[in-house]
Amino acid sequence: RLKTGRALALDVWSIFNQANLPADCINLGQGYMNFPPPQWVTDAASEALSTVAANHYSHPRGRVRLREAIKNYYEPLLARPLDPNSEILVSSGANEGQYSVFTAFLNPGDEVIMFEPFFDQYLPSVTFNGGTPVYVPLHPPPAAQAKTTSNDWTIDFDELRRSITPRCKMIILNTPHNPVGKVFTRTELEGIAALAEEFDLMVMSDEVYESLVFDGKEHVRFATLPRMWERTVTVGSAGKMFAATGWRVGWLIGPESIIGPTLAAQTRIVFCTNSPLQEAAAAGLEQAAARNYFATEVADYAERRQIIVDAFDSLGLKYTLPEGTYFILLDISDFDLPEGYPYPETVAGRGRDFKFGWVMAQEVGVSAIPVSEFYCEEHGNIGEKFIRFAFCKDVGTLRQAAVKLAGLK
Ligand code: GLN
Repeated sequence: RLKTGRALALDVWSIFNQANLPADCINLGQGYMNFPPPQWVTDAASEALSTVAANHYSHPRGRVRLREAIKNYYEPLLARPLDPNSEILVSSGANEGQYSVFTAFLNPGDEVIMFEPFFDQYLPSVTFNGGTPVYVPLHPPPAAQAKTTSNDWTIDFDELRRSITPRCKMIILNTPHNPVGKVFTRTELEGIAALAEEFDLMVMSDEVYESLVFDGKEHVRFATLPRMWERTVTVGSAGKMFAATGWRVGWLIGPESIIGPTLAAQTRIVFCTNSPLQEAAAAGLEQAAARNYFATEVADYAERRQIIVDAFDSLGLKYTLPEGTYFILLDISDFDLPEGYPYPETVAGRGRDFKFGWVMAQEVGVSAIPVSEFYCEEHGNIGEKFIRFAFCKDVGTLRQAAVKLAGLK
């Protein structure tokens, strides 16, 4: 019997794949870069491929050099010593690491709170492992507000409290947040922490965009809040940090009580993560500070963000200025859709954001991701007011996209 439902439906990334779009369409959809990782990182990858041991299975926890690099990089950030033999687990991308946490910890019917919109992968990862998602909205700013930032997307803490039932096991937190770009404030995180403690919940803190925070905003690591280390697993990603999304190298950091069972699950799913690229990720973390790499990255990304912001401003469009990540939400509620447009089957039955995205790709020549995919079905009507652009592209490509976006008028 084939499983049915949202979790096995065609994913948005496959619908808005470059292969399904006009050849000259500029792809600001799926978040991946059109520039290479830094050379000093790819050099380390090449070197690893010439090293016999780095071509073979790594320890299921991850290669020693990478775990050591993660320890050294994160100890100051998490303000605590980290034991690479029990508190760090290298995963085959952040997705797989999170999946393994769910496999290890969710029992049938356990509820998992996720803030909506949520990174789409959380939903199937939770349901495949027997969990039940519980959606708590990030409330969008009022439509009348002309200038909005990701900080205007807010949590109603009474609503969050009411969503916690005795079956609740875990909260998934994502800061900086995909797709809103929200960098949760310390006050918001303290509110979440208080509830996690009161109801004895685990917290999965997906912080894969940790290195992309703009305008001097502070990225607060959930695990650094008082008493939160014991119940938190922090998720990181080499793909996001080093422009290498296809490498599938991520990591989990947390107490042995969480990392131990997750290691057991992960060992049975993938056994270990690809070895040579772990060496390269290690080189990245080892050298980043001396090369001033992340500060340079943030400045580059701020410039990229500005190109899209200027394009939206010059067209008088409403958008959410992101404080973090490389995503920006455009409010499309004022746009009309053309009558009788020939949509493919994958788009025809979907929300107006899917249709808008399809028409924009065909007629304007820029693609983006419909945001209803980041909502459960019942709340899709909120998501379909928005479409998400990824600005992790080189400046030339973004300038070209900005010119094409004038076609939206
Ligand atoms: N995290 C990336 C994004 O949101 C890619 C996700 C994916 O391909 N599953 O665009």
